[in-house]
Amino acid sequence: MDIKFVKRDVLKEKPDQKNLGFGKYMTDYMFEIDWIRGEGWVNPRIVPYGPIEMDPAAVVLHYAQETFEGLKAYRTKDGTIQLFRPEMNARRMQRSNERLCMPSLDEETFVEAIKALVNVEKDWVPSEEGTSLYIRPVVFANESALGVHMANEFKFVIMCCPVGAYYPEGINPIKILVEDELVRAVKGGTGFTKCGGNYAASILGQVKAEKMGCTQVLWLDGVERKYVEEVGTMNIMFKIDGEIYTAPIDGTVLPGVTRDSMLQILKEWGYKIHEEHVAIDDIMKAGHEGRLEEVFGTGTAAVISPVGELVYKDDSVTINDFKIGELTQKLYDELTGIQWGKLEDRFGWTQ
Ligand code: PMP
Repeated sequence: MDIKFVKRDVLKEKPDQKNLGFGKYMTDYMFEIDWIRGEGWVNPRIVPYGPIEMDPAAVVLHYAQETFEGLKAYRTKDGTIQLFRPEMNARRMQRSNERLCMPSLDEETFVEAIKALVNVEKDWVPSEEGTSLYIRPVVFANESALGVHMANEFKFVIMCCPVGAYYPEGINPIKILVEDELVRAVKGGTGFTKCGGNYAASILGQVKAEKMGCTQVLWLDGVERKYVEEVGTMNIMFKIDGEIYTAPIDGTVLPGVTRDSMLQILKEWGYKIHEEHVAIDDIMKAGHEGRLEEVFGTGTAAVISPVGELVYKDDSVTINDFKIGELTQKLYDELTGIQWGKLEDRFGWTQ
């Protein structure tokens, strides 16, 4: 790909690495490429980060034809920068885009675009413990035309922002509300895609959870509201009687890159894994019987989030006395060890 480069006159001041937060500081540049029906992908370029001009009739503003991705670049001890399984994000975006009738970059071009941008922005990849450069690719229909249809013009953009450890004070157990009324996804819908619409529809549940003193929502299946699916922006795993349970990837749950990586590590460590539909009643029962040993969410942003309490209807269970489980901590250390290059990458996950 022949990427045009448009230089900025003045570079931004870099923020204090100790106070990065999440998604607050955008870097100097962004990658852009357009798609036009009949022509395909045209005009790849790295340009100064800034507003995008858009017609008020742009399809995305009305019918939400949009998908995105999220991954990170990590600075290792010797100063090199590495990506973690970016091809998984490329493939997931292709599956998302197929469902929303949108064009995709091929896997190689997607990864090449990310590498080109990160290379330009390498000084923005922070080096403090737990920090990284978050990379956000997004594609949307920017043709201006009212009327629901498969759009004829799209724009793909990649932006980056340096981010701190998701939990600055270290990983701490969170309290989660099991949502028994609103649903996130149904079979045949868009649950497996990373489309903005899924997140827009989830905010009401999040607001409800926060009102009840919970940090996140645990979604149940969209038909019977009986089986556990995923949490906010994380997949979820349960350790019951020494074995691992997590929802299968069969159309309603987002196939997390972290989920897949954790399962591979757990398999290597000899854990028995059940990728199956587990009823919330069975989880709560295991909790009351003291068999629910650990619960944790997995996702790129936080890596792993231990769950300390599940609130479901008028019942609740506390997990592991609201302390970080042994396996949760071990998985966190193992995966972040590979991501930041402290441990040998025996799976070949980094580039
Ligand atoms: N589920 C949802 C709904 C998410 O938004 C995310 C974050 N991408 C995940 C799960 C975890 O996916 P990953 O491990 O690829 O970040």
